[in-house]
Amino acid sequence: MLSGKTAIVTGSTSGIGLGIATSLCEQNCNVVINGRKQTEQTDKICADLDKLGSGKVLFQAADLSKLDHIETMMSNTKQEFGSVDIVVNNAGMQHVSPIEDFDPEKWDLLLSLNLSAAFHVMRLALPDMKAKNWGRVINVSSAHGQVASVNKSAYVASKHGLIGLTKVCALETAETGITANTICPGWVRTPLVEDQIVMRADKSGRTVEEEAKDLLSEKQPSKEFVTPKQLGDTAVYLCSDAASQMTGTTLTLDGGWTAQ
Ligand code: NAD
Repeated sequence: MLSGKTAIVTGSTSGIGLGIATSLCEQNCNVVINGRKQTEQTDKICADLDKLGSGKVLFQAADLSKLDHIETMMSNTKQEFGSVDIVVNNAGMQHVSPIEDFDPEKWDLLLSLNLSAAFHVMRLALPDMKAKNWGRVINVSSAHGQVASVNKSAYVASKHGLIGLTKVCALETAETGITANTICPGWVRTPLVEDQIVMRADKSGRTVEEEAKDLLSEKQPSKEFVTPKQLGDTAVYLCSDAASQMTGTTLTLDGGWTAQ
């Protein structure tokens, strides 16, 4: 379905980003994989992705909390593929602390990665999308883009901000063939969440699996984790013609979390 199109998926060396990159590769899209560093593991990930479809896979090492890295990633992509048709702003981090103890440097870093990086990638991709009169902006927010939890001030602020930013982009591109939407996952068992589960187990002395069950029961009524593949397939849907009039909205895959 996406043969001849080029996508950048930020933070795609693991978890949700890798799931989305996998689904896009399966649709024969050219896909730019991004992580902070090129390693043997990222080489293997790219080689495996490359086998999935007829599109090309390109790795771009870029720390997206740094503007010059984002600019280099975007210009390298343009040089390799001509332009970018699909951007998936997925890279993100978490830091857990009450507001009064929240390290200000962590606040700045988290906002720059979770929110400002998406702004810069969109800013640099939109001119080409406008020139082609086709584009897809897919921003990965969170259930925490719609509701809050304690001790996650920077994360909740950035994820709420990302939904607002996406709506502005949708309005600014409404009369073009570009759409901009947000995907809001609930709990997905990726390294980002595994760290939180292990922290809970360390504190409580219970097993990691017991803590994983509790984490789900507290927030996610389905009591099941959302999978990276489900999110990848949702991104593919957003790239389809069926979704061409869907813009400025949020697709929530959270097992009922935000219905409560
Ligand atoms: P993850 O830790 O598995 O993946 C994060 C990715 O971001 C990795 O590829 C990592 O290399 C990359 N990354 C981190 N810092 C970076 C930086 N400075 N520059 C470039 N890349 C960087 O986490 P995940 O759970 O797959 O999270 C992906 C996105 O989904 C995040 O934005 C997260 O907030 C969001 N999300 C996750 C969940 C969940 O339950 N896992 C739920 C809702 C939203």
